[in-house]
Amino acid sequence: MIKSPRGTRDLLPPDTALWNFVEATVRDVFRAYNFHEIRTPIFESTELFARGVGEETDIVAKEMFTWEDRGRAESDRGQSLTLRPENTAGVVRAYIEHKLWDRGLNKLFYIGPQFRRERPQKGRYRQFYQIGAEVIGPAASGSESPARDAEILELLATLLDRVGITGWTLELNSVGCPADRARFNEALRAALEPVVAKMCADCQRRAVTNPLRVFDCKVPEDQSVIETLPRISQFLDEGCRTHFEQVKEILTAVGVPFTLNGRLVRGLDYYTRTAFEFTHGALGAQNAILGGGRYDGLSEALGGPAAPGIGFAIGEDRLVLSLAATADSVLRTPDVYIAPLGPGMNREAARLARELRRSNKDLVVELGDESFRLKKSFEAADKLKSRYILIVGENEVKADAFALKHLASGEQVSVPRAELAARIARH
Ligand code: AMP
Repeated sequence: MIKSPRGTRDLLPPDTALWNFVEATVRDVFRAYNFHEIRTPIFESTELFARGVGEETDIVAKEMFTWEDRGRAESDRGQSLTLRPENTAGVVRAYIEHKLWDRGLNKLFYIGPQFRRERPQKGRYRQFYQIGAEVIGPAASGSESPARDAEILELLATLLDRVGITGWTLELNSVGCPADRARFNEALRAALEPVVAKMCADCQRRAVTNPLRVFDCKVPEDQSVIETLPRISQFLDEGCRTHFEQVKEILTAVGVPFTLNGRLVRGLDYYTRTAFEFTHGALGAQNAILGGGRYDGLSEALGGPAAPGIGFAIGEDRLVLSLAATADSVLRTPDVYIAPLGPGMNREAARLARELRRSNKDLVVELGDESFRLKKSFEAADKLKSRYILIVGENEVKADAFALKHLASGEQVSVPRAELAARIARH
């Protein structure tokens, strides 16, 4: 038997109803905040991620699905392509490529699959889905303002509330600007030097290549050392400190709770200032539902104009896992099951189904088959959890009125054709 590749999965009904509920809800939220959708390609040049995510990240160093194009055209051949491991780089590429600043398009959202070759476990897949948004634009458009950071975070709080996620925690930090981080890195190196030999192999490597990443370490024995290390908050310059204060003030004013987490860092040069994560207790080891932050230098790192930005990516798989709602509560079951009874009745049933679906686009109509005996039609309607069954036999066709039975109450009435749609729609 051929199975789906490791780390990928089929999303099946009824779960897909939950996914659609989540996506419809977040689309409503994005609309209310005046965000517009962008869809970028699922694969891009490898170079985009090397530059946009960073060569030293785990994602780029070990997790990308990369291949060399075997195209016939000389221009395609040998080009290195990669399935997108995240969507911010693609959005910023599109922003630059289409000069989106000229069109005033600076609030964009996306929903789609991402790919990383990670070790699969609950809440971690090789094909997973992200819902994300970016606010990006010239500084003159206000894209640098702490008001944008606070608005993004308030949007997220609203979005999680709307999809029905309770018990989330917003963890917040500021990673300052590149100059702050250079000083912080120096201090970290100095603090790590006498203790790093006792730490895990990964930390020993990080201490040399990118000391900031030591804060990602999950090894229990290393935590007591990490707790003693300096924090980036001690190294913020005046501008970054004020920016962060303002973000926190607005959040407090609008009533979005947060906790400060001095260990939350992003190690690349173009990540600046606000960094955040929303976590959820029910998720276990993979407890981050979403992450995001400012990337004021990213556009320039990708060869574009200065364009401060802030964004986030929600792990949709994890969002669905932490929903209190069940698939059954959002699944639409049929309003009516049409049961044709006897030869020649399929076409009568088809006519009725067409009329009902056309007269009320919200009705869910299921169609049986004339070869079924009445008992089998009832069983089928029950199994599908239909509200009504509609019987289409010769007598009904002649009378142009049909037996409509409410399955839960057992109540049965004869309803003229013209009144059927209204009768079924009424609950
Ligand atoms: P990142 O792009 O790494 O900041 O991730 C943003 C969010 O995407 C995380 O908080 C997770 O919820 C989700 N995510 C990242 N990697 C995976 C994965 N392999 N499987 C499922 N969700 C993921």
